[in-house]
Amino acid sequence: MRVLAYLWALPTTLVGAVLALVCVAFGARARWVQGACEVHGGGIGRLVARAPAPFGFSAITLGHVILGVSAAELRRVRRHEHVHVRQAEVWGPFFLPAYVLASLWQGLRGRRMYLDNPFERQAYRAESRPDRKSAPP
Ligand SMILES: [Zn+2]
Repeated sequence: MRVLAYLWALPTTLVGAVLALVCVAFGARARWVQGACEVHGGGIGRLVARAPAPFGFSAITLGHVILGVSAAELRRVRRHEHVHVRQAEVWGPFFLPAYVLASLWQGLRGRRMYLDNPFERQAYRAESRPDRKSAPP
């Protein structure tokens, strides 16, 4: 079943893999952590870490690839990002369009496009809970 989950999420993972390769070309490091490829640091990581809102962020997950500004930030947000990994495994090739449409829908309703997005709400809920099944140890 895990192989199917990786295959189903592969279209999203490929987007992440392309971005990961660009980050690695600019000095980022990659490693396999809890079933996902974590990429952090390098020139792009430093640039994103210093970017003003809304362009700056700690990490972004695309399928089984998690791009983070630093190893420390990846540790801090790992539980949240792994919820997005699981979401990509459930939604497969529809994850990115569904995520974008969910954000747009929230915006059209006058809500916050990021924080009120149901995918983010699920991730933040998991992040605030003590260890659970949806959160890797
Ligand atoms: Zn998130």
